[in-house]
Amino acid sequence: MLGVKNRRREKIRNCTFPPEWVETIEKNVPLYHRLPPPDQLELQGHILVFLDEKNFEGCGGLVLNDEIRVTIAAQACILLLHRKTDYYPGLYSILVYPGAFIAKGYVELAPGVYTETRQVHLGESWRHGALILSWDDVCAGASDIHDGHNVVLHEFAHRLDSEDGRANGAPSLPHRSMYVAWARILGSDFHKLQHDAQAGLPTVLDQYGAANPAEFFAVATECFFEKPVQLQSTHPELYENLKLYFRQDPARFASDDRLAPDRKRAQAAQPPVA
Ligand SMILES: [Zn+2]
Repeated sequence: MLGVKNRRREKIRNCTFPPEWVETIEKNVPLYHRLPPPDQLELQGHILVFLDEKNFEGCGGLVLNDEIRVTIAAQACILLLHRKTDYYPGLYSILVYPGAFIAKGYVELAPGVYTETRQVHLGESWRHGALILSWDDVCAGASDIHDGHNVVLHEFAHRLDSEDGRANGAPSLPHRSMYVAWARILGSDFHKLQHDAQAGLPTVLDQYGAANPAEFFAVATECFFEKPVQLQSTHPELYENLKLYFRQDPARFASDDRLAPDRKRAQAAQPPVA
């Protein structure tokens, strides 16, 4: 069964990527420019599979088009590069609102006593089935690749985290031995972020990550791709572990956003992260 699925995916990955989609990505997803050409090609293959398998729905009056689908898919698939991936298993639908949406929730006031809450959300990852995004915030998050805020990377990092059934800040790691280092480093950096947030100190990581380990992983993922140089200098061990997990080294390319294309190509010729 898996063989059939993999063969189908392989076939889709090798289809021609529409040139107008490349234009959309180049316009809406500046992170794409940081990727070396082989990674851009790999990303295009992942986007084709993603768009073939995931259902998109426009909500709140939003009329879906290829620009919306491709912009979201491109960012979601950056998290899949170089890794063995099952393309966000269990995620069937991506619901897209025009702007921030109101999400209903419940807070337990006392044992068995609940009150309904309504909060404005930019994105939300349900453990099963669906993920909700605001198109305005998808565009805002994608456009500035230096601020560490990207709602698509954030919500899809939650999906990776919950692939093993638990949203606890530890996604499925390729080697058992990595869990010990992961728990130690993410644990200590999470507690430091909590401490610094309480003390009112400035932090490279968004202080929203101090809420719990799952938010910490989502925030650290945003920071890893958007502020990799700062993350590497302030949290070297955290950066190293994210680099091992994502099998990417964005700090290598982030500091050269304005480099000549030929130097970028020379750097890209170096072997990928193991
Ligand atoms: Zn979150």
